[in-house]
Amino acid sequence: MPRDAIWYCEQCNYELAGLPPQGQCPECGHPYDTKARKGVRDSAHAQRRVDRIMRLVGSSVYFMLAVCVMICAGLLSFVARTPNKPLIVGGIIAGILVLGGVVSLLRDKDS
Ligand SMILES: [Zn+2]
Repeated sequence: MPRDAIWYCEQCNYELAGLPPQGQCPECGHPYDTKARKGVRDSAHAQRRVDRIMRLVGSSVYFMLAVCVMICAGLLSFVARTPNKPLIVGGIIAGILVLGGVVSLLRDKDS
């Protein structure tokens, strides 16, 4: 265990830097003990958690974009002279986006 390891509050992920090895989280009051590894997360653990959240956010961006594209396509179909065209194009783009979201979700499960 390197001496400058960064600990995070187990409860709220607050960075417990420059604090005594035992005490209470200044953010949420959760009791911690870095020597006994109680009530804390080490930096690697927190980083993995952040990575997972970031990937989940990345996947949901795909799905949100797909929904936006379909809404735009739906609106365009009202004003377009050929109502089917924007729907078909939008459907294809949304399909690709959903596929991208599913792929990035599946990749998340592997790691
Ligand atoms: Zn806390």
